Amino acid sequence: MALDPLRDGHGRSIGDLRVSVTDRCNFRCQYCMPAEGLRWLEREQILTFEEITRLVALLSSMGVHDVRLTGGEPLVRRGFPRLAAMLADLPDVRELSVTTNGFLLERDAEALVRAGIDRFNVSVDSLQRDRFYQLTRRDALPQVLRGLERLASFPEAHPIKINAVAIRGFTEEEVLPFVQLARRTPYEVRFIEFMPLDGDRAWSEESVLTGAEIRALVQAVHPLEPCGREPHATARVYRFADGPGKIGFINPVSEPFCADCNRIRLTAEGRLRTCLFSLHETDLRSPLRAGASDAELERIIRQAVWRKELKHHVGEPGFIQPARTMSAIGG
Ligand code: SAM
Ligand code: SF4
Repeated sequence: MALDPLRDGHGRSIGDLRVSVTDRCNFRCQYCMPAEGLRWLEREQILTFEEITRLVALLSSMGVHDVRLTGGEPLVRRGFPRLAAMLADLPDVRELSVTTNGFLLERDAEALVRAGIDRFNVSVDSLQRDRFYQLTRRDALPQVLRGLERLASFPEAHPIKINAVAIRGFTEEEVLPFVQLARRTPYEVRFIEFMPLDGDRAWSEESVLTGAEIRALVQAVHPLEPCGREPHATARVYRFADGPGKIGFINPVSEPFCADCNRIRLTAEGRLRTCLFSLHETDLRSPLRAGASDAELERIIRQAVWRKELKHHVGEPGFIQPARTMSAIGG
């Protein structure tokens, strides 16, 4: 049954949910996790597939139609394709997508496509094996590229997006190889500005290589033309004027898109977060496990979402980095 749309106190309708299905990961990307990993949640702390499905069913009936599964690394959660199938079956979920580091895609791409995943984002920060290792602390580029190839063999998985975090002093050298990839394959490459959500707390404003800077590097070689921007889209997408292919820029630091933000997040242990940079979160697991009705859960969710932050304060004096890393939030 369709419920009233979910809105926040600033007049924004919420239509997009990121669900973290695990806090664990098989990589240790420098901009996300510390080298030694983090203290993982215990199994009983993590929402079961049935609990996730119940919350997604409720949220989607409030107009949250776009659902992205993430983590940690979602594909390390045992039985993940079964969860994907349970969510794909929900009548109010219109687009179901996954963000993955690609390491297990060679094994799981087929099962996930068959389960009903509509879109895939694969994170790749370098196309050179040694530099990929440096950033992710795993010598895994060949395995990730094999996973991408496997995924690309399913036409229903296209267009496939490749996300690269843009870090000053590292990513400059990656820009043109990624441009060539975007021009010669169907992959749309998107650069995401480095955000202060890293386990090492090494982020500084200077370490962000901005979308505008990368665009200038690309423009010097290949002219770009802007594509139209879809409502709530976080990426500014350009096509190459002199050939096929697209490239996108997600600029949360240099050009925040908070005014247009329609997104909420559910952590692996069932906490609702209304902003990536929230310092406050709402526990949904306790009421869920205490037997709350859908109406009670709906009331808790509406109250939390009403208080959604107007904007993030990255780069402003007094900004406080959340205790959680990106991997523990669900990026
Ligand atoms: N493990 C999966 C992956 O890497 O695709 C999914 C989870 S990961 C936290 C989701 C996305 O967040 C990835 O594209 C990753 O590159 C990005 N990310 C992680 N830490 C980030 C940071 N500090 N700034 C910007 N993006 C970040
Ligand atoms: Fe793992 Fe993704 Fe974080 Fe890298 S960005 S450590 S792959 S969760």
